[in-house]
Amino acid sequence: MSADPIHTLSDLDTWSFAGTALAVLGHPIKHSVSPPMHNAALAEMSKCNARFASWKYFRFDIAPADLPVALEKLHVRGFHGINLTVPHKIIAFDLLPDVVLSARPIGAINTLLRTKGSWRGYNTDGYGLSNAIKEELLLVLGDKIDVLLLGAGGAARGAAVECIQSGVRSLYIANRTASTRDALIAQIKPLAANVPIHGLDPASLPNNLPENLLVINATSAGLKPTDPLPVDLTAFPRPRAVFDMIYNPSETGLLAQARALGIPAANGLGMLVHQGARALEIWSDAAVPVDAMRTAVHSAMKAHA
Ligand code: NAP
Repeated sequence: MSADPIHTLSDLDTWSFAGTALAVLGHPIKHSVSPPMHNAALAEMSKCNARFASWKYFRFDIAPADLPVALEKLHVRGFHGINLTVPHKIIAFDLLPDVVLSARPIGAINTLLRTKGSWRGYNTDGYGLSNAIKEELLLVLGDKIDVLLLGAGGAARGAAVECIQSGVRSLYIANRTASTRDALIAQIKPLAANVPIHGLDPASLPNNLPENLLVINATSAGLKPTDPLPVDLTAFPRPRAVFDMIYNPSETGLLAQARALGIPAANGLGMLVHQGARALEIWSDAAVPVDAMRTAVHSAMKAHA
């Protein structure tokens, strides 16, 4: 586990760090591996550029109700960039008027860059997802791929927009609660002029699903060992690959089933690394050492285990 202390809102009243501060805000934040990942990258970047020697990434446990005041205080204290994790991504989108165009259809932001009077919001999760899928499953979303997306929460919303913007051939969205699935589809349909979108019940899939689907799990089913599978991989034609956004545990029930069936599969660690790398590029305007971030994340995960 990371040795970085967990800061709270009240620490900002006496904040005295003199360098360039970055931070992740979440609730809970105990298990975040973002501080070791970003601090490893900054250590590597400072070898070539001395300005990064004074940069440091912190973590804060901030309750949802405290997010507005936390963002104000972080700005007053001179923080340069912020990452947001559960449950802040959608709350911050609703709070901040300045959100880059690419993040607006998602309705959630995970990266903030300091501006003169406030913060500009970005969402780097879709970039992380498509880069991880390319790197680990050797698939390009826009390359005639049919996608079965599991889930309809915040992560699924980002994934659906990424699939549409990348030009997947078709998008099937399965979620156990029909109302949240239908709300997501209604929200993204206007963006998807050329991408057919279908809503499904994961417990009773139709028998005409395409072969070679890329399955993306964006549900939280799999976080606990007792969780049910978000979908049974034998209930439809053999998929070409499975990507599970969950990275802790490193092998969910869904990934274990994929492995047993010989289907290429990857967990969400690569997505975490690439979304973080993109955020650090936004803050630093410099090349980012993705390998150092990956190594740091792997060590932090081992320490967690
Ligand atoms: P969220 O907004 O709370 O959405 C949770 C989703 O999971 C909903 O669709 C929910 O379905 C579904 N779900 C929960 N428990 C389930 C179960 N037992 N069986 C079937 N479906 C279930 O969460 P989120 O922010 O979208 O995050 C989802 C997952 O993605 C989390 O595990 C998160 O850690 C992961 N994630 C990873 C990365 C990364 O960088 N690797 C980035 C973002 C998110 P209902 O609508 O039916 O409740």
